[in-house]
Amino acid sequence: MRALVAAVCLALTLCSAASASAATTRGGESHSVKPEGGALDLISTSFGQRDRELEILYRSTEAITPQLLAEEKGGQICTVFDRVSPAVRAVCVTRSDGKWRIVSRGKLVEGSVSQPRETELRLRFEPAAANLDVGLADVYVNATAAGCSAQQAKLPKVTWSGAKIVSASLLKLPCEHRLPRVGGYRARVWDVVTTGCKRSGAGQVSRGPSGKRIALTYDDGPSTYTSAFLRELRKLGVPATFFLIGQQVSANASLVRSMMRDGNMVANHSWNHADMGAGGPAASSQLRDTSAAIRRATGFTPCLFRPPYGSTGADLVSRVNAQGMTSVLWSVDPLDWRTPGTDAIVSSVVGQTNGGAIILSHDGGGPRSQTLAALAPIVRTLKRRGYKFVTLTDLLGYAERISLVK
Ligand code: ZN
Repeated sequence: MRALVAAVCLALTLCSAASASAATTRGGESHSVKPEGGALDLISTSFGQRDRELEILYRSTEAITPQLLAEEKGGQICTVFDRVSPAVRAVCVTRSDGKWRIVSRGKLVEGSVSQPRETELRLRFEPAAANLDVGLADVYVNATAAGCSAQQAKLPKVTWSGAKIVSASLLKLPCEHRLPRVGGYRARVWDVVTTGCKRSGAGQVSRGPSGKRIALTYDDGPSTYTSAFLRELRKLGVPATFFLIGQQVSANASLVRSMMRDGNMVANHSWNHADMGAGGPAASSQLRDTSAAIRRATGFTPCLFRPPYGSTGADLVSRVNAQGMTSVLWSVDPLDWRTPGTDAIVSSVVGQTNGGAIILSHDGGGPRSQTLAALAPIVRTLKRRGYKFVTLTDLLGYAERISLVK
């Protein structure tokens, strides 16, 4: 019953921790204890967004040791996001099997944990990985030193007038902390959009670095076949890179946006599929107009160009590079535009592919049902051989340009 009373007091901010006489905290404000491995006495937290990732930094007065956050003894530091998602989400860091782990609702969250200093712990993860929605949130931190879990289990879950009471344990347990003591910090999870990519290295390439990563590329769309290709890629869980014809983009703007949303890459394949091998100012216009059409449709400026017919030359490449793009040829060509049959396309691609391959195919410019039917067997066979499908920008190691949506 005492825990209940204390919790209600705290929630209404009518009484302080010090006035709850049964509390085991020392001196009201200080509640540092020294269980095995040191003291978990958080003095501050900061919260921000670095590109796509949320960054949370915890600072303590003493070293944040692995023992303090040992998962098997209930050690954890949790940041609780209220109001940002339909349900309250807690993102916690613990230590298990010699590794820091980020966990949310019992599931591992992909991200990184580092210690800039021994008194600090820094988490980075993408909001979606922890099922955090975009928007304003009330944020607070609950930390439990390893060894508190046995006592914690006895605490009743208390609610008062619908408010979530999270601080009863603060008054009860010497090794549990809440930051701030009452209420929450105001924070925002931003939406992030990809606005472009940054080319580097060779001005023209026909393959990526050797290794197990490969890229599927589709030319001459968007077309009536493209949405079926996107569905198939979603089903297979792999991305592709689409080299788009500029004059076909505006009528298919929503299709191009869904390419991006699915994690595919979009790229420039000239305005009207002209032979641009001789270069010259007309080539520059083709490049510029197509990138502008893609930007209007998606907000994204491409950094990859593929010359129609593979027709290229030094002048063209320098014009492509001057517009921030790399000229990309291919290392695997199944000649799918000749419609040789689905089996022939599959065996040609599978036979020619090795590490770093750039696979050429077409989702526009003619009948593409054979190419579409070849996609699933190609992906399954090459995955079985240990290959990983990535976008061309990933394959070439290009950075993305992104911005926060304000
Ligand atoms: Zn083409």
